[in-house]
Amino acid sequence: MTAYTLGSLLYEGKAKRVYQTDQTDLVAVEYKDDATAFNALKKAQLAGKGLMNCQISARLFELLEREGIVTHYLSLQEPNWMLVKPVQIVPVEVVVRNIAFGSLCKQMPIEPGTPLDPPLLDLYYKDDAYGDPLLTDARLERLGVLSASQRQELEHLAMAVNTSLRRFFAEIALELVDFKIELGFTTDGQLVVADEISPDTCRLWDRNVSGDAQERILDKDRFRQDLGGVVEAYGEVLKRVQAACPPPRLGK
Ligand code: UDP
Repeated sequence: MTAYTLGSLLYEGKAKRVYQTDQTDLVAVEYKDDATAFNALKKAQLAGKGLMNCQISARLFELLEREGIVTHYLSLQEPNWMLVKPVQIVPVEVVVRNIAFGSLCKQMPIEPGTPLDPPLLDLYYKDDAYGDPLLTDARLERLGVLSASQRQELEHLAMAVNTSLRRFFAEIALELVDFKIELGFTTDGQLVVADEISPDTCRLWDRNVSGDAQERILDKDRFRQDLGGVVEAYGEVLKRVQAACPPPRLGK
């Protein structure tokens, strides 16, 4: 266990709290049980969600790291706490889609379930006050948060994350439909994968359930669509991830 002292709350988001520590190179992240959807219009408490998302994220960050993709993750602390490197989050949500679903099908004529090959990458401006709008190239340039080469790097990283995660999830009979990641700059200017990777941020379908039955949905769509069994679905994802990954490292 790393000897560090928890400092003040730096930031509280919808699903996590981020705390300073007495070590400048360590930040502590607490995963909460709060569930929100539709820009926080829908809210609930789901006992155990924080712990499960933290446990899943820790293993997926370590998997990415083994595949040469740098993340902010350092180690698991408590069951629902992890230590990460401090990063400046890029205010852009990066979504990679392997199968058309969700907002994509509401915004253009494409049938839910249509395979997307090559995968589709969408960038959204991360700001709840504006409703996280889809960015155009020109708007991204106007925002001025990424240089052209940083944007290329961000897209390259997101596609590499997709390749790794998709292959891994397929091994545990889960279809990675789409996911959102956030990236950040470390204090020495390196662009790394940050935030979390969990059923809150990935659409995952059970490959063992045939057809388009709702039982195949093992992600936050169970909460968004009032399908019930949210905690059970996350638990199933954790069970499969745990079985396929080494236990996460503890301490620094
Ligand atoms: N997503 C997310 N946070 C957001 C928006 C989307 O984690 O604020 C994830 C979502 O869970 C899904 C993917 O990004 O795995 C694509 O979501 P989409 O754009 O289809 O939006 P939605 O249908 O969830 O509104």
